[in-house]
Amino acid sequence: MKHQSKLPNIGTTIFSVMSALANEHSAINLSQGFPNYPSPQKLNDLVAKAMDNGYNQYAPMAGNLDLRLAITNKYNLLYKSNYHPETEITVTAGATQAIYTIISAFVKQGDEVIIFKPAYDCYQPAIEVNGGKTIPIQLSAPGYKVNWDEVASKLSSKTKMMIINTPHNPSGTIWSEDDMLQLEKLTKNTNIIVLSDEVYEHIVFDGEQHHSICKFPELKSRSFITASFGKTFHNTGWKIGYCCAPKDLMAEFRKVHQFNVFSVNHPAQKGIADYMTDTNTYLGLNDFFQQKRDLFLNLISDSRFKFTPSKGTYFQVLDYSEITDEHDVDFAKRLTKEFKIASIPLSVFNENGTDDKVLRFCFAKTNETLVKASEILKRI
Ligand code: PMP
Ligand code: GLN
Repeated sequence: MKHQSKLPNIGTTIFSVMSALANEHSAINLSQGFPNYPSPQKLNDLVAKAMDNGYNQYAPMAGNLDLRLAITNKYNLLYKSNYHPETEITVTAGATQAIYTIISAFVKQGDEVIIFKPAYDCYQPAIEVNGGKTIPIQLSAPGYKVNWDEVASKLSSKTKMMIINTPHNPSGTIWSEDDMLQLEKLTKNTNIIVLSDEVYEHIVFDGEQHHSICKFPELKSRSFITASFGKTFHNTGWKIGYCCAPKDLMAEFRKVHQFNVFSVNHPAQKGIADYMTDTNTYLGLNDFFQQKRDLFLNLISDSRFKFTPSKGTYFQVLDYSEITDEHDVDFAKRLTKEFKIASIPLSVFNENGTDDKVLRFCFAKTNETLVKASEILKRI
């Protein structure tokens, strides 16, 4: 049988590639972003309780209502922004499904979607499988600052959507309030939909603030926010996330969502809803991860890697240009095989595989693992 691939240039995601290589070589795995410590016991217990209490059949299509109410409360508390639980919030199978479904619901053949590179790797294939055209804007290490005149020059009558991501994976940078205001100015009086990927909203360091798109009313009116409980509650394997948007946009989203997954794991949703009634469960994350970032960076301060401390996310980018001029993919693979430490090369997220000689390390790990990893990094 012959068929023409809809994604001829797409191979296996780098996260699977590097985790498999780490396992094969028994390397410390700081590549794919996931914690190596347990999901909170209290949350696990609440999910088990939800199963015992009968939350074992389909959740409502838009998500368990207690969870949607907990999400509404969070946006009111943190950003003084209201999303109606009935019509403006949908629970999804991780942020990945939310992102895919948003793109499928709106992007048609020939539509242009602007993304900033390095870009998280699920955006571009979702655009292209739906017939859209990716318009990349390449940002450069180490600051990954946006040139807003360049963004203005990339807008056209075909621009359907822009995808933004702050705090940013893989660079660990965050957008300023000014960036958001520039975005607001550029999109005003257009029909552009903004997909704001905010999965790391609770992981921002050094007293800085997360500028959620919902704090900017004009932007909010054209935007989806995507979020991931896997990131916030240390259980990426549960694959529960959600998205929020004004009612008219969410109605279109749900037309696809209902046939894409219909609804997602019910006991996990109910357990998370109950767990979130204590806001400390997510408000303490900044400090928790800042301690890990600082521990990791102090431990490697006299290594040959150079760095700007991550401003958000649980990733730290390290510049290895003083060590070798190998391509970052080759170097990441060699470190895994020879030094038994796995990381993610940033070039795979760049336009044309541009290599800035930087690797991404995940510090969502036990302190013991971070100490062991640093001992290796200091030998390189
Ligand atoms: N967006 C970004 C920027 C991510 O890093 C991730 C990975 N966690 C996702 C989306 C997907 O999140 P989830 O695991 O909830 O699907
Ligand atoms: N978001 C995770 C990361 O950036 C990976 C998720 C995945 O493996 N798809 O490492």
